[in-house]
Amino acid sequence: MQTPLYVSVRDDKLVWKLEQDGFYSVRSAYKQCVNDAGYQDRHGVAGQWNNIWHAKIPPKVKNLIWRIGRDVLPTRKKLNSRGVQCPMHCVVCNDGDEDSTHVLFSCTRSIQCWQQAGLWAHISTGLGANNNIAENLFSILHWLNKDQQELFCVLVWSIWKRRNNKVWEDVTDSDQTVVERAKHLITSWRSAQQIRQSAHITQPSPQQTVWTKPRHGRYKCNVDASFSLDRNKVGIGMCLRDDHGRFVAARTEWIEPIVDVEIGEAIGLLYALKWVEGMQLYDTDFEMDCKKIVDSLHSKRTYLSDLGAILMDCRNILASNLVNSDVKFIRRQANEVAHRLAGAATSLASFHNFITIPSCIYNIIIIEMR
Ligand SMILES: [Zn+2]
Repeated sequence: MQTPLYVSVRDDKLVWKLEQDGFYSVRSAYKQCVNDAGYQDRHGVAGQWNNIWHAKIPPKVKNLIWRIGRDVLPTRKKLNSRGVQCPMHCVVCNDGDEDSTHVLFSCTRSIQCWQQAGLWAHISTGLGANNNIAENLFSILHWLNKDQQELFCVLVWSIWKRRNNKVWEDVTDSDQTVVERAKHLITSWRSAQQIRQSAHITQPSPQQTVWTKPRHGRYKCNVDASFSLDRNKVGIGMCLRDDHGRFVAARTEWIEPIVDVEIGEAIGLLYALKWVEGMQLYDTDFEMDCKKIVDSLHSKRTYLSDLGAILMDCRNILASNLVNSDVKFIRRQANEVAHRLAGAATSLASFHNFITIPSCIYNIIIIEMR
């Protein structure tokens, strides 16, 4: 059995494995229970739900479509089947029993709305030989393009609203009102979204995609981890350069067995911090391309997990001997030197200290010196 043991983890404690910080959360427990129960298989309704979730329509419309798909719309037929005593007939046309398919698609008044909106040809094709409302719904959506799907959804909402207006307020909406209400909903909602979006447009923070030299008199250490399933190892590569971009030193290490990506990246950072601390190069900037670890390192959150213990060791080094240092996130393209070294580390039998440029990064070092 291979259980990774970390030097950073010194005390035994109870840790909730399903959350990265090691603390219990209802969210993760619920997710696990749902997975364990195979809930998706037994209770899920098959269909292209993503078409609905990604549609540019108001959330209340999505919610209604979801309820229709789950066949929980409180139509009169549904209410009767649940023991609620109420008339069965459709209040809009006074003809036929009111179930979801009738209200939305087979009621003569609804058909007139679909015709006015120019969607009836597609809908009648989609209705075909389906067994239930969910099949009808997804079969119709299949015949519509994206714009038509969105119009379809809001019109479904408006047709259901007419039914409710009649049942609860005794108000009779004309077919034209139903179609116009649907169109108005979609246009007003979209313009509101546009206003919100333009209010939120901020300058995107420039993401560093090229390696840059450290400021005058400082060093820069790039670090990365590489995961080799074949060798069951995590390779760690680190490279130190001066303010002219000149190679100072590099080191490769590896750990086994293979561990989670975040743990591997955090251990890589810890080793790099220790390496630089050992060389007493106190003015060093550290860079890595794992945003999660950089964010977790700087966050104020407490971590109970193994990851937390490793990050705590990193923080302690930064708060004692490396107070002049910082750890920053950079894009993968700007971390190529460390990435190559980490990849090479898993195939090397022992750990290596390089005082001349290793061949695998020679060209990159020269290019990045310019
Ligand atoms: Zn009807």
